[in-house]
Amino acid sequence: MVAEAVWDRILDELRARITPQKFQTWFGPTRAMKLDDRALTIEVPNAFFIDWIEEHFLKVLDGASGWHLAPGVRVAFCVSPQGPSEVPPPFLTAPKPQASAAVAHHPDGCRLQQRFTFESFVVGKSNQFARAACQAVADRLASAYNPLFIYGGVGLGKTHLLHAIGNWVRHHAPQKRILYLTSESFMNQLVHAIQHGKTLDFKDRYRTADLLLIDDVQFLGGKESTQEEFFHTFNSLYDAHKQIVMTSDRAPRDIPHIEDRLLSRFNWGLVTDVEPPDLETRLAILRQKAELEGLAFPQDVLQMVASSVRSNIRELEGCLARLSALSSLTGRTIDLPFAQESLKDIIRPSAPVLDINAIQRVVARHFGVTEDALRGKRRTSAVAFARHVAMYLGKRVANLSYVEIGRHFGDRDHSTVLFAVRKIEKLRESDTVLQRTLEQIGCALEASTAG
Ligand code: ADP
Ligand code: MG
Repeated sequence: MVAEAVWDRILDELRARITPQKFQTWFGPTRAMKLDDRALTIEVPNAFFIDWIEEHFLKVLDGASGWHLAPGVRVAFCVSPQGPSEVPPPFLTAPKPQASAAVAHHPDGCRLQQRFTFESFVVGKSNQFARAACQAVADRLASAYNPLFIYGGVGLGKTHLLHAIGNWVRHHAPQKRILYLTSESFMNQLVHAIQHGKTLDFKDRYRTADLLLIDDVQFLGGKESTQEEFFHTFNSLYDAHKQIVMTSDRAPRDIPHIEDRLLSRFNWGLVTDVEPPDLETRLAILRQKAELEGLAFPQDVLQMVASSVRSNIRELEGCLARLSALSSLTGRTIDLPFAQESLKDIIRPSAPVLDINAIQRVVARHFGVTEDALRGKRRTSAVAFARHVAMYLGKRVANLSYVEIGRHFGDRDHSTVLFAVRKIEKLRESDTVLQRTLEQIGCALEASTAG
């Protein structure tokens, strides 16, 4: 059967991309049902699988299937009609009733995670600007900010915001044609189109969207012909007054090997970042997540998780999932000792390895100044420069927010830190001495945390 053969090939690619254990757990019990010109339909044992696969493997699945499916054909999951099968859900949480509707497939073939909405996005200082920009764009396509470029570290809500724009537009302006995809799958589809002589279809598909949501554009770095095609797609959408929203794990200028003409276009509209959330926001996210899942977590457990996992919201959520899974497996109630025990591999007792103190120590030693001087008020140029470097590393290595960094440097305010980070970033581009310095400090930092 064709569907099975195609799915087998996709599985082969998946196998190479994820651990054998994950592969076995999540893709072992799947079965190809049907392939038509819209979708390859895959049966899974229960709704929980759909949720989990869509949440954790969407990207890798996109990557793996891009080569084997014609553009416009997606992988769709359905629950086996035999009802709950002999395969138990890997986590013994009750499947959510609405789970099978987790991903809305629209006639335009665009997959949007339904739970990634503006309502479910918790707003804090770290992301309020990005959130507001996304809302403005969703309300006024192509007339608020075009393009909108959102960047920031892993697991900070960029993909969530992208889907939120899509979901909002789909609801409020259903006639609009929305396309969501990762830049990797853009590339795979392009390659596929070229191989099969279907480049015109490809161009048509992307150049007729009203809203193009393109995730993880940092992936375009170094991919020349994909950049070329993306450049033309960008231009024709932009000229036709269509909205483009992009995300990236770093600022446009930090994407390696990206053509200048693309870089300049990325900066045409609004470029905004999402920062790691502060403690308050992390707690709010955990509370919301617990509530959505209908799980009761004591306050001190949430507090413990929120103060231990700082820079990645996906991990934050992962902790809750793990606690609830272990608690239902073992029948133990979730209290602080249980949480500490269950999360001990995930949570290090003293927060991130590369914490700001380690950075200050290593930077002070490198520049031959004292740590106190680094944190203090003196502005002699040697101290000030070392301080700027340390702040820069606080941002880029420890992934702290500007406010948090400021706090560690004698309560300096967030704009001072921002200035320092920008300055070092700019210098780094051309100053080879600084590049060497950063490398050396990087090595020293690594050595200081090894073992
Ligand atoms: P990124 O694309 O930046 O790597 P994601 O958008 O995939 O991160 O977010 C990771 C997870 O964290 C998702 O489950 C998302 O819903 C959740 N998340 C991120 N930011 C928030 C937020 N502000 N409020 C609620 N959930 C969030
Ligand atoms: Mg993402």
